[in-house]
Amino acid sequence: MKLLDVPDHQEMESPSSWLMRVAFRQVVAPRELARFLGVGIGVDCEMAFAKLSFQALASTHTSAAGTFRHVDLLMERLRKVDPYGERFLLRHNSVAYHRFCAACLATDRVKYFRLEWRFKCWRWCPEHSCLLLECCPHCGKRASLPQDMCDAGPDGLGVATLDRCMHCAELLTTNWQVSVDTLAQELTTPWEQALLNNGRAALAALVLGKVQIQGEQKAHGLRRLKTIERQGFLPHASQFRLTHDEMMRRHEQSLLTMLESASSHPLQTTAHSQN
Ligand SMILES: [Zn+2]
Ligand SMILES: [Zn+2]
Repeated sequence: MKLLDVPDHQEMESPSSWLMRVAFRQVVAPRELARFLGVGIGVDCEMAFAKLSFQALASTHTSAAGTFRHVDLLMERLRKVDPYGERFLLRHNSVAYHRFCAACLATDRVKYFRLEWRFKCWRWCPEHSCLLLECCPHCGKRASLPQDMCDAGPDGLGVATLDRCMHCAELLTTNWQVSVDTLAQELTTPWEQALLNNGRAALAALVLGKVQIQGEQKAHGLRRLKTIERQGFLPHASQFRLTHDEMMRRHEQSLLTMLESASSHPLQTTAHSQN
């Protein structure tokens, strides 16, 4: 029997994001729904779905359209280089979480979390040219999915859309406009830029199933990603400190420096003769 009133899966939506939206419509907890689908979530929902076929599950139990197959393909390839998602996926104290682009969440018609936001190496949004946020701008908690939207928030009254924090229920997108186009080349080092681009290239490698290295004609197999990650060429947390907050701090600092230098050159209103 298929579930009714199931929302479509959005472009590369993470399994935990979709599970939450489906569970909300069915008025059940995501873990209960996962059990019904035959998925034991454990620590990491994305990895749990990766062990099965997301597409087969979705088509067996729902009539929802979506890019389930693309998610399967990416996760299948990830499992080849990182079977448990320990090295490539974001977790804090063994809890899986997503980073997010506030501008994407604010401008999406349907609010959802992308699968790439689960990846340690995916640090910036190419569409909005900004670094991803690490946590809620109001309460500082991470976006740990899946959670039950029906009783989310401090009072347990729930939230209706995924652009709200599950902990404090405030909008994750507050002041999203200030982040757009803040990834400035002049405020980042060449090494930071290289790692940011490598992070994007690593995701592309997982999508394409091969690793292309600059200056080399021949593509490598996916296992090469493992070596690249171990050598510290990806923007993973331990070796990469450039966060959204750090970028905003650099912008403020550069603005202050500009203002200080402007104030040392006050306007001249007295007319001087040329001689
Ligand atoms: Zn974005
Ligand atoms: Zn919050």
